[in-house]
Amino acid sequence: MKKHMGLGGYRMVDLTHSIDPFMPSWSDTSRFSFEVETDYEEGCRTLNYSCAAGLGTHVDAPAHFFRDGKMIAELALEELIVPLCVINVSAQRSPDLFIQPKDIVQFEEKWGEIERGSFACGYTGWDSYWNETERYRNVDGKGKMRFPGFSKEAAELLLARGVMGIGIDTLSPDGGNEKFPVHEAVLGAGKIIVENLARLAEIPAKGAIIGMFPMKVGVGTEAPARCVAFIPK
Ligand SMILES: [Zn+2]
Repeated sequence: MKKHMGLGGYRMVDLTHSIDPFMPSWSDTSRFSFEVETDYEEGCRTLNYSCAAGLGTHVDAPAHFFRDGKMIAELALEELIVPLCVINVSAQRSPDLFIQPKDIVQFEEKWGEIERGSFACGYTGWDSYWNETERYRNVDGKGKMRFPGFSKEAAELLLARGVMGIGIDTLSPDGGNEKFPVHEAVLGAGKIIVENLARLAEIPAKGAIIGMFPMKVGVGTEAPARCVAFIPK
């Protein structure tokens, strides 16, 4: 009998936050809510959900910013299941942290060049505030959110390395910058972004694989996604 191989050679880490009504969201109007449509007494429980497409751990497709860009449903599995590298900048923890090219250079000095076709995540440590909605959104006195992101230059360096996309453990790879230069650069290059990743602290700098599984909505420009890291044992 043929031996079943399975995925026994890998340990899996769920990089996804659970979706619930009190989770941090980009705006007050993008919150998750649900209603019970029918319940067990009628045979089974069916629910209706309402939320922004870009809620929780989610994928941004190029179409999020570019009319002619790829939609969520057009992303190939080959773009969504790729090698993962995690750039750990959590020692610099600050709401005003923008990952810089020097952080990437330092990463590469230690771990070798970021491989073409991999997915590059910034681990800032901000995910530890996930259960404290106010702190995670961190709105300052001027009504502006402040949390870590990437600098445009760092995003451009990663694109020059040929990454499939970038991810971060905050609401946006642009931090609180609402001019969105990182979104423009990454999505403009036809690559993807994942926001609100969880548990990046548990992932090695290199060697793991990430699977990103966004809800496959035909008109989707963003979509909630189950994201999983596969770490060779
Ligand atoms: Zn985004």
